[in-house]
Amino acid sequence: RGVMVRYVYDFTQGGRDMAGLLGGKGANLAEMTRLGLPVPPGFVLTTEACRAFLTTGGEPAGLAREVSDHLAALETTAGRRLGQPDDPLLVSVRSGARFSMPGMMETILDIGLNDDSVLGLAKVSGSERFAWDSYRRLLQMFGSTVMGVDRALFEEESARLKDVRGVPDDVHLGAGDLARLVEIYKDLIHDETGDWFPQCPAEQLRRAVLAVFTSWNGDRARLYRRREHIPDGLGTAVTVQRMVFGNLGPDSGSGVAFTRDPATGRPGPYGDYLPEAQGEDVVAGVRNTVPLTELERLDPGSCARLREHLRTLERHFRDLCDIEFTIERGTLWILQTRIGKRTAEAAFAIAAQLADEGLITPEESLARVSGEELARLMFPRFDASMTGAALAHGVAASPGAAAGAAVFDSAEAVRRAAAGERVVLVRQETTPDDLPGMIAAQAVVTSRGGKTSHAAVVARGMGKVCVCGAEELSVDVRARRFTAPDGTVVGEGTALSVDGSAGAVYPGSVPLVDSAVMRFLETGDTDGEAAGVVEAVAGALARADTVRRLQVRANADTPQDAARARRFGAQGIGLCRTEHMFLGERRKLVEDMILARSDTERDRALAALLPLQRRDFTGILEAMDGLPVTIRLLDPPLHEFLPDRTDLAVRIAAAEAHGDLPDPHDAELLAAVDRMHEENPMLGLRGVRLGLLVPGLVAMQVRAIGEAVVERTRAGGTPRAEIMVPLVGDVRELRIVREEAERVLAEVSAAAGVPVTCPVGTMIELPRAALTAGRIAEEAEFFSFGTNDLTQTTWGFSRDDVEAEFFSAYLDRGVFPVSPFETLDLDGVGRLVRIAVAEGRATRPDLTIGVCGEHGGDPASVRFFHTAGLDYVSCSPFRVPVARLEAGRAAL
Ligand code: ADP
Ligand code: MG
Ligand code: MG
Repeated sequence: RGVMVRYVYDFTQGGRDMAGLLGGKGANLAEMTRLGLPVPPGFVLTTEACRAFLTTGGEPAGLAREVSDHLAALETTAGRRLGQPDDPLLVSVRSGARFSMPGMMETILDIGLNDDSVLGLAKVSGSERFAWDSYRRLLQMFGSTVMGVDRALFEEESARLKDVRGVPDDVHLGAGDLARLVEIYKDLIHDETGDWFPQCPAEQLRRAVLAVFTSWNGDRARLYRRREHIPDGLGTAVTVQRMVFGNLGPDSGSGVAFTRDPATGRPGPYGDYLPEAQGEDVVAGVRNTVPLTELERLDPGSCARLREHLRTLERHFRDLCDIEFTIERGTLWILQTRIGKRTAEAAFAIAAQLADEGLITPEESLARVSGEELARLMFPRFDASMTGAALAHGVAASPGAAAGAAVFDSAEAVRRAAAGERVVLVRQETTPDDLPGMIAAQAVVTSRGGKTSHAAVVARGMGKVCVCGAEELSVDVRARRFTAPDGTVVGEGTALSVDGSAGAVYPGSVPLVDSAVMRFLETGDTDGEAAGVVEAVAGALARADTVRRLQVRANADTPQDAARARRFGAQGIGLCRTEHMFLGERRKLVEDMILARSDTERDRALAALLPLQRRDFTGILEAMDGLPVTIRLLDPPLHEFLPDRTDLAVRIAAAEAHGDLPDPHDAELLAAVDRMHEENPMLGLRGVRLGLLVPGLVAMQVRAIGEAVVERTRAGGTPRAEIMVPLVGDVRELRIVREEAERVLAEVSAAAGVPVTCPVGTMIELPRAALTAGRIAEEAEFFSFGTNDLTQTTWGFSRDDVEAEFFSAYLDRGVFPVSPFETLDLDGVGRLVRIAVAEGRATRPDLTIGVCGEHGGDPASVRFFHTAGLDYVSCSPFRVPVARLEAGRAAL
């Protein structure tokens, strides 16, 4: 390249807005340096250097030169050279990508130690133990990360030595022991690799840097990126930083701290400290940490400075921050900061507090919480003080929390559940054969598969708690047990707790607590133990309601659902399906309608259904009085209401086998089933096509709606029914149905002497409907996007058939990052939506447009519907608060 590319930045040359180039860690170290916080000096090799290295396989030209220049500067400030034998400068080599990938890549500490400088370090520090401890740490990290020796082998050697000495942990090993360990490790590295650990500090540095670059493409890192939707092409930056030592004796140590409690959001610093330790010991959990109150006692000066720095950082970043810190002989150093991860509860609490404190605006406060977090707070959950450490993490596939005895096959799940036991079904992955077990279980855990794996899809459909793809678990179905990464073996019958909202599996039976947020949403009650969080949620929803432009309606088919949706803030019903109303005892009437041999017979069956339908609609219109209720005419193919063909055939065959005559009704039904069989029912006789082909059906449904409106009007109510015609592909279909509907409504109105006006509109769920929306709007008073069918028909796949099987392959192979049934496919389906909105409104400027597919409750999709100019989204009652919040955020 003609232009000179710069690959290395000193901490004093960067800042927080350079995360793309310096990684989050490097950029924030630079930012803290600028703020004057005590950060050990250092420099950052850019992600660009990493990308160049990974694409060409070699170090980019000029990189080595830039590194040695920056190292020289670092050496000058420190007054000593890297690995200088009598007083060595030591550095850490740290990974850090643009997006935090905790623990996924490598970091190597204590670079610069060798057989000579370890002696110098011992002398200048006055601690032989410290020097040998640092050297063996370097050998361990360098040996595994750079030279590829299995980490466990080092652990085995150190465990063996501790055994011989009869001591429980590393702190009890003396200088002599550690020096011995150094020799053992050096031999181990040589035995395993055929190479000796490099004694040259510059070579150590160079190889460590390249190893960190390479770790970007490690299995763990790739897997994590796929799960978190982080692009593979970003690369990691590498930070080279002067070491500070927490392992320099009792007045030293390391810790992590948060500006507020990340679990509850409680204000005031929160953290853990580990005396006599380097940072990696804190995370590794080798010894138990102590709370900050204990640091206060051990080292009040450092603790006070720590608190002050936390305050500075929170004011500066205007958000919850977490930090890594190290105290070296009473001097405090900050080694990392970032915006802290937090629970849903803490997210709401902190957003509200920061706004109250004037640090952020109310709008920013709303932007800081998400619909997903709200959804999580609506489920009963585990008592956070009782969970302990997770056995494993996986994909949070279906929210909620549940506990039960572990079982490893469907039959056992069914057997135990029948005996009244609560069970958790654990499998590598589930298949349709596991269905009975999934129904019987409280929760499902799998070690394979993502959000659209069979387990995830089925569990969500059943509202069952599910964690899938917990790859750390090694599940042995035959032996009826699994092993967790910490070595815990969980056998059949052992209690297990599953948090489907957080994607975590815990040992034992963790107690559940009811959701205070749900109680608030149901009753408006903000009192109680979680009052802070509930008030924060109430405040966020109130703010969202003031700023949002999108209305939120609910999909509800019963008065109960309608009433609940209304309590949750629904502004009407966007989809009232009528098919459920044809089930149960009414099936017989539907059969009669289908089998009718004459108009009279059919009219009789329809007439019997009419009062039942009228009652359904009256109840719903009452629950939603004053608000719009969009009633969809019957949509599914009629044969769905007939019995299963095999059942019928078996019944007939059984009768014949007994020498009896088969029930003539059965024979008739079988003939009807055969007559109405469709190869592709999804694309068959359904939706508006039924209205055109089954005489009297539309008239009956419309009459029931009209009469319900009359009844409600007479009762003093304000019914606002809307009639929605499904699966329209051409304006003429809609015109025929609409004319019929208007004729019936006029009749009802005239007979009752009560005005009955119901807008008639259509679903847009076929590409042809979207593409001819301008024509369709001539007949439609409103549009409602049926995005489930529109997704199926646009992609040409049937959801029921593809989701479990090939979607996981499609996700794995990157065809789409997320299932198009979960988040609207903006490029394809979204484009059709935009066309239909523009052309529909061109014909009829006051056209009301909404969406009633499941996407109506999906945060990312809600955002799109806002920008696409829709008037409302409609979703299941439980998603209504989520959609309100997201509609508010979309409008910010
Ligand atoms: P990760 O991204 O996995 O947290 P880090 O690069 O933050 O990796 O480093 C791992 C541990 O080593 C952290 O606890 C960090 O504080 C510690 N560490 C890194 N660099 C230094 C240093 N220069 N001096 C002392 N400790 C360090
Ligand atoms: Mg870190
Ligand atoms: Mg549909």
